[in-house]
Amino acid sequence: MITTPDFDPALIEDLVAANRILYHEGVVDGFGHVSARHDKRPQHFLLARSMAPGLVTAADLIEHDREGEAVDPHAPTLYVERYIHSEIYKALPAVQAVVHSHSPAVIPFGVTSAKLRPIFHLPSFLALGNGVPVFEIRDTGGPATDMLIRSPKLGAALARALGSAPVALMRGHGDVVVGRSVREVTFRAIYTEVNARLQAEALRLGDGKVEFLTDEEAKAATQTNAAVINRAWELWKAQALDG
Ligand SMILES: [Zn+2]
Repeated sequence: MITTPDFDPALIEDLVAANRILYHEGVVDGFGHVSARHDKRPQHFLLARSMAPGLVTAADLIEHDREGEAVDPHAPTLYVERYIHSEIYKALPAVQAVVHSHSPAVIPFGVTSAKLRPIFHLPSFLALGNGVPVFEIRDTGGPATDMLIRSPKLGAALARALGSAPVALMRGHGDVVVGRSVREVTFRAIYTEVNARLQAEALRLGDGKVEFLTDEEAKAATQTNAAVINRAWELWKAQALDG
């Protein structure tokens, strides 16, 4: 059931594709989710019902309100962690799309002092804001949470930790990635995972000494990358929807 018939059909198509792509590219597995801000009601957003992202179709997308609840009182079960999305959209008006995942290569960077930084040009966005922050759930949720963002309060704390950065790591859990479009957030989520994998390898090869992009290089590369996101998107989409 699409509870939001006035949503731009092109955005619905992108959001369904993003679910499939993120699964195909190994960013999400049975868990994780991607949402888009509603194009007509910017306080609202579109997110699948609680299900594996690799299986999402347009019929599974649910309109959520500002507080992260379904607009339709008869909606099926929602993701427990939907407050990640609602609180980020509330706090950060420029954000148009959000990915939350347990992106495997990223996890080590949330639990050690190694800072996730861009080691090549495509993940240059990692240098935006003040770099990649790490969200510590204990600061808000105390010492015995199950690590999930189960409440608006935890979602708001995560949004604060994110600030102006495009990515925040969640210690012992995963990460959250934001973008100005579904395509941009998908690109960023994929290259955050790729960067983490390659950075871990470089740290091993270089005995901990790695040459990262400077802020100036990262800024220039980010500008260039913005123009080529669609090229990667078309390939990822064709592969993901094919299989
Ligand atoms: Zn999670």
